[in-house]
Amino acid sequence: MTACTTVPGTGRKQFNVYSTSQENAMGAQAYQDEMKNAKVISSGPVFDRVQIVGARIATAAKQRHPEIANTMVWKWTVIDDPKMINAWMLPGGYGAVYTGLVNFVQSDDELAVVMGHEAAHAIARHGGERMTQGAAAQLGATAAGVATDSEAIAQGAAMGLQAGILLPYSRKQESEADELGLFIAAQAGYDPRSAITLWRRMQSQGGAKIEFLSTHPSEGTRIELLQEQMPQAYAMYKRTRVDGTATDAKDFANTKTPASK
Ligand SMILES: [Zn+2]
Repeated sequence: MTACTTVPGTGRKQFNVYSTSQENAMGAQAYQDEMKNAKVISSGPVFDRVQIVGARIATAAKQRHPEIANTMVWKWTVIDDPKMINAWMLPGGYGAVYTGLVNFVQSDDELAVVMGHEAAHAIARHGGERMTQGAAAQLGATAAGVATDSEAIAQGAAMGLQAGILLPYSRKQESEADELGLFIAAQAGYDPRSAITLWRRMQSQGGAKIEFLSTHPSEGTRIELLQEQMPQAYAMYKRTRVDGTATDAKDFANTKTPASK
């Protein structure tokens, strides 16, 4: 029984009755469903930009959380929808970035913070955790009961999209994705301080549709938590840049603060 798992990076114990391969298969299916009505962009400057940032995020995630990140496909689909300031990543690494988000961000650093946050949801297996909670709620079962009831698991899988994968995340999961995502972006060589400017701008925007504002912790709390983590994240970012250990050093030539040596 592997129902109790540990979130890599934060060490939080979570209750999840799904295996990584079950989750990833559900992510693949949900991704296919989402793609049916999506207007996908597969070439051009916006596509290229998302792929470059996405590849660096993927490499940093594999460095930091190899066990889970190496099971993921790391696909970043670009969807043409200028009104959607949004991005997501399903279990298994099936990600999407909307053109509305690319237009909204003011730098690759901000884009990387969002993509790192979305990747963190998949790395921390928040989808499986939500599906477990959804199945428990649906059946009125205790969590322990669900773990031993294969029928409940199957039912949870069948209603996976509604019960788990596309439901808003909990506050705790959002804060966890903020934290993991911040360090992934920093290790990928993106300035983590951009998280603060991004969140503030989104807050002032009001009705942004981005996934991580749907069940937001209060913005003040979110920014406070990020600021607590910032010295460590910023130190990692500087180390990555100066050491040249980032995944794609040639891209640094285009960023604002070149490495000092
Ligand atoms: Zn989120």
